[in-house]
Amino acid sequence: MDTVSTEAPKQTTKMAPTDEMSSERAAEVLRLTLPMMSRNGIPTTPQNYAVWYAYVTGDCPSLTTEIDRLIADGQRFTAGVNARLYRKFISEHDLEQVESVRNHLGTLIDEVGTRLVDADNDADVFVGKLDNFRDGMSHARDIDGVKDLLGKLLVETREIRESNAGMRAHFDDMNKQIAELKEQVRAERERAATDPLTGLYNRVTLLERIDDALSEATTERAPSIIMLDIDHFKMINDTHGHLIGDRVIRFVAKTLHQNIKGQDTAARFGGEEFTVLLPGTNASGAMAVAEAIRKVIEAAQLVRADTKKPIGDITISAGVATYLAGDSAEELLQRADQALYKSKNDGRNRCTSAD
Ligand code: GH3
Ligand code: MG
Ligand code: MG
Repeated sequence: MDTVSTEAPKQTTKMAPTDEMSSERAAEVLRLTLPMMSRNGIPTTPQNYAVWYAYVTGDCPSLTTEIDRLIADGQRFTAGVNARLYRKFISEHDLEQVESVRNHLGTLIDEVGTRLVDADNDADVFVGKLDNFRDGMSHARDIDGVKDLLGKLLVETREIRESNAGMRAHFDDMNKQIAELKEQVRAERERAATDPLTGLYNRVTLLERIDDALSEATTERAPSIIMLDIDHFKMINDTHGHLIGDRVIRFVAKTLHQNIKGQDTAARFGGEEFTVLLPGTNASGAMAVAEAIRKVIEAAQLVRADTKKPIGDITISAGVATYLAGDSAEELLQRADQALYKSKNDGRNRCTSAD
């Protein structure tokens, strides 16, 4: 087996970000990557390409070390090994990084495709010229040798053209697969960020967004948090069953979603508890949002689809807290939770401000 490590550019520094990479450099990476994969018998799937692309750019030093070691040990790149490399170094990596590689790859392949089309046009012209030349020469008996030679040339040129067309199809196919992968990454990211029952963001996303909001918080622009909990939800489950309980959870989620603005985040914190992050809303504004939500839910008359009988009064209790200088996400959430607890203790179906 060839040792490919000698051909890989031994970069120790990270390459320039995707959009800054010159097209010459991008094409160079492609030129190095494909033959390297072919020499090691690796199918050019988008996954494998992402692995070997990272190897050639030196973007991921631990991946480079691992592949160098596999090559030094004379290991075969079986489907299992390839899948493991992809999982370990690409798919479990920061999804954003993977996506940026794939975006880059898309651009790159577009570019190479265009170049091949250009090359193909040149070949077309060339073939046309040769055809004419051959026609003209066919009248001359004494240049049979030349004619044979030209015939061979023609075959060769056609082969070049065919191989170009084949390559183009190959790149088209690869581009299509990469576009599908891009969509998969997007859908996967969305799935990972949201709660399946309600479609609201989940706790992980909420905590990320709170951290973002706190990092940008000032005393003039202090984020607020609303913690909400459905009142006596156990009774709803007990009376109507879990499926109806789920519908009530979805109804509350929809109400939250409909009562917040673009920059706000509504999340299902867990069970029948919800959190709303309002990055640019002060304490009184946040209390107004919480009250509006509480009233909509109180006024709703939910009816069972099967029996057409009312589900009964659904109410929520809420606690509101606003950022104080130096607050951590936990401190802010805890104050909102304490305010929620007070709402429960004071008789439920109410909003309490922590501040
Ligand atoms: P409180 O007014 O004090 O909040 O009373 P509660 O009955 O709502 O109290 P608690 O928070 O203890 O009960 C929540 C219940 O929510 C318990 C759990 O079985 C139920 N629950 C949690 N997640 C789900 C879910 O996804 N679907 C359904 N149907 N029920 C859930
Ligand atoms: Mg609860
Ligand atoms: Mg509850």
